[in-house]
Amino acid sequence: AEEMLRKSEKLAVAGQMAAGIAHEMRNPLTTIKGMVQLMESNIVKKEYFELILMEIERMESIIGSFLGYARPLPVKYGIVDIRSLLDECITLFTAEGNMKNIVLLVRHAPEDALIMGDSDQIKQVFINIMKNAFEAMPKGGSIEIQTVVDSNAVSIQFTDYGHGISKERLARIGEPFYSTKEKGTGLGMMVSYRIVQEHKGTIKIDSEIDLGTTVEVSFPLADGSSFPSNER
Ligand code: ADP
Ligand code: MG
Repeated sequence: AEEMLRKSEKLAVAGQMAAGIAHEMRNPLTTIKGMVQLMESNIVKKEYFELILMEIERMESIIGSFLGYARPLPVKYGIVDIRSLLDECITLFTAEGNMKNIVLLVRHAPEDALIMGDSDQIKQVFINIMKNAFEAMPKGGSIEIQTVVDSNAVSIQFTDYGHGISKERLARIGEPFYSTKEKGTGLGMMVSYRIVQEHKGTIKIDSEIDLGTTVEVSFPLADGSSFPSNER
C-alpha cells in the first residue's frame, strides 16, 4: 500500500511537472517568435539576437534541471568524500566570487566525512545551494561553509549574509517552479530536496529577512567511515 501511495504521488508530481514545464516554455517561445517575426519584417537589431539567445538559454536550463529530476535513481552509488567534494565545488565558484566580491570561507570537520552516494548528484545539490547564496548577495559579502561530523552523520552548513527569506516564502521553497527571481527556474531546490531524500538525508533552511540564510544538508555516514584518515 505504501508503495502504491508512493507511485501515485510520483505520478501526481510528474503531471504537475509536465504542466509546469509546458507553462515555463511558453514564455521564452513567445518572445523568440516575436523577435523572429520582427526580423522577418526587416527590423534586425543586435538586441534581438541577444534576447533570443537569453531565452534559449533559459529553456536549456529548465530542461537541464528537469532531466536532473527525471533521471532514474539510484545512478552510481559509491563512497563519497564530502570534504573533498565540497572543496571541488568551492573551486568552481572562486572565479565568480572574485568577480562579485564574494569570499567563500570554509571550515571543515577534522574527521573524515564519507557517505554512500552519487557524487555527481551531491555535487549538484551543493552547486544549487551555493548558487542561491550568491544570488542572494548582489552586493557581495561572505559565504561560510562548515562541515560537522558526529557519530552517524555529516552536516554541511551554507551560511550567506544575503537578503533572506520570509516565513511565507520559506514554506514554498522546493515546490516545482517556485522562484522569486526574474530569471529563476524554481527547480534548483526541488531537485536538491529530491536528491538528498534519495540519499536518506535532510535539508533544513533557517533564514532571517535582510540578515541571511543558512541551509543545512545532512547525510548519514557510510558504515565504517570512521576508518583511519589515510583512507582518503
Ligand atoms: P531559483 O534559484 O531558480 O529561483 P531555487 O529552487 O533554487 O530556484 O530557489 C527557489 C527560491 O528560494 C528562490 O527563488 C529564492 O526566493 C529562495 N531562496 C533559495 N535559497 C535562498 C537564499 N540562500 N537566500 C534567499 N533566498 C533563497
Ligand atoms: Mg536556484
